[in-house]
Amino acid sequence: MIRLTEIKLPLNHEAEALSTAITTKLKISPEQMASFVVFKRGYDARNKRNIQLIYTLDVTLNDAELTKQLLIQFETDQHVKATPDTSYKYVGNAPKDLTERPIVIGFGPCGLMAGLTLAQMGFKPIIIERGNEVRQRTKDTFGFWRQRKLNTESNVQFGEGGAGTFSDGKLYSQVKDPNHYGRKVMTEFVKAGAPDEILFVSKPHIGTYKLVSMVEKMRAEIIELGGEIRFGTRVDDIHITNEQITGVTLNTGETLNSNHVVLAVGHSARDTFQMIFDKGIYVEAKPFSIGFRIEHKQSTIDQARFGDNAGNEILGAADYKLVHHCNNGRSVYSFCMCPGGTVVAASSEENRVVTNGMSQYSRNERNANSAIVVGIDPERDYPNHPLAGIDLQRELESLAFELGGRDYNAPAQTIGDFLKGKPDSELGDVKPSFTPGITLTDLSKALPDFAVDAIREAIPAFNKKIQGFASEDGLLTGVETRTSSPISIKRNKEFQSMNTKGLFPAGEGAGYAGGILSAGIDGIKVAEAVAKSILKID
Ligand code: FAD
Repeated sequence: MIRLTEIKLPLNHEAEALSTAITTKLKISPEQMASFVVFKRGYDARNKRNIQLIYTLDVTLNDAELTKQLLIQFETDQHVKATPDTSYKYVGNAPKDLTERPIVIGFGPCGLMAGLTLAQMGFKPIIIERGNEVRQRTKDTFGFWRQRKLNTESNVQFGEGGAGTFSDGKLYSQVKDPNHYGRKVMTEFVKAGAPDEILFVSKPHIGTYKLVSMVEKMRAEIIELGGEIRFGTRVDDIHITNEQITGVTLNTGETLNSNHVVLAVGHSARDTFQMIFDKGIYVEAKPFSIGFRIEHKQSTIDQARFGDNAGNEILGAADYKLVHHCNNGRSVYSFCMCPGGTVVAASSEENRVVTNGMSQYSRNERNANSAIVVGIDPERDYPNHPLAGIDLQRELESLAFELGGRDYNAPAQTIGDFLKGKPDSELGDVKPSFTPGITLTDLSKALPDFAVDAIREAIPAFNKKIQGFASEDGLLTGVETRTSSPISIKRNKEFQSMNTKGLFPAGEGAGYAGGILSAGIDGIKVAEAVAKSILKID
């Protein structure tokens, strides 16, 4: 097959325009082409009046000889290449008489893909997840959003499917992926019920409800292949002898022995971070970001990005990605943008408030939201201890709880009042989507001064790119503190902890992923590393 990239066509092109573009590009007749498939479809909306769709197409010709000839003829054209083989190849298979079962701690996207890949290779992993299975977890999470009853073990952060289960389900990532692991993640998701389009649109998303049923199907496959998953069970201790992990102890008191343990606990497992630090596992403090969620009407964002094409079905609800470098040396950026979604309460500890965002697949809620956050780093902001970033997160989340009125309401302020430094806000046209509720207050008290100054400078700068971004009526809700892990659990080239053999730190919590897709990719890499270590192959 021949892969053509950067084929540009107008937004409202006819279906036949695709085959015409192919035959024109390759200078062949329509009869010479057998078929084609769309591998990727993105868009370029920089010029609102002339929005272009950008395709990557895989073309099959009737004649294999002609395919070879064309690839030679277009050798110097970087947009005409042989279609790469993106199918996944397992690194090995478990021997039938294998007695040791690898343990995977955490059943988020990383633990899920690690567990699934290990199970597919025949390793029968034991997966330990502190939160509940996804249906019960959904009830637990809605219990918090509707009745302010927080279950500290089963919530937005913890439980089957991990942190991204109640999310927009964006599935794109900027990680380099030369081995096409992302394709395996997507293919497994489609097998489990995700829409086929995630395989070809350039910015796929699934939305929260589909994720719930997908996770259940993937769990069923792992169990069918001989894996075991224990929900509502937390790893409270790990055992190390001569710098080699030998097993884990659960909150039930039971000890499981294994020389291969994947640690995929996500960025909110603060007690587990403390436990591994106390055990002497090598960890470092790492940069993360703090800020607020910002909400606008989705129609404001659609209009600013797509003009007269707002509402076009192919384009869907508009998103944005913004960054501003501030005079005080800080950078502010948008993060985890959720078109047509809601701001969610994402606490996992009592008396602390933290925000995040989610959407349904349809993305048809009235507001757009995203985190507007300031980068912070250990050198300047939380020096002296590898876990000091967690203390800072806790401090800001407790402060948000106080400012919200001590009942899990989140502190909020209109953009206009925040920019003017006017403490007594009144809501305008943008209605808050956060549940259980918001308390209007002075948000400048919620973050350190440098962060408040930076966000006050960035919002008007963003308004130059997205008209209406600084609108008086827009709403800020606080606080965002869990953009990524505050620590990094360093590993070597065999994917094992720097000072503990057999411990495989993985995913977002270890600092090796930032999002569902990259966490899934890291899960596959770590599963391969575990398999190679057990099979003693390079
Ligand atoms: P996690 O998903 O955090 O999973 C870790 C799991 O480990 C958890 O289920 C936890 O309960 C379990 N665990 C922790 N400690 C223990 C222990 N001691 N014993 C047993 N189990 C333990 N990313 C995107 O790419 N797109 C999005 O649209 C998106 N939206 C998001 C919306 C929300 C509300 C949130 C919270 C996150 C969102 N993210 C999104 C981020 C994404 O969810 C994470 O990057 C991803 O889930 C990280 O995967 P992970 O497997 O490394 O960790």
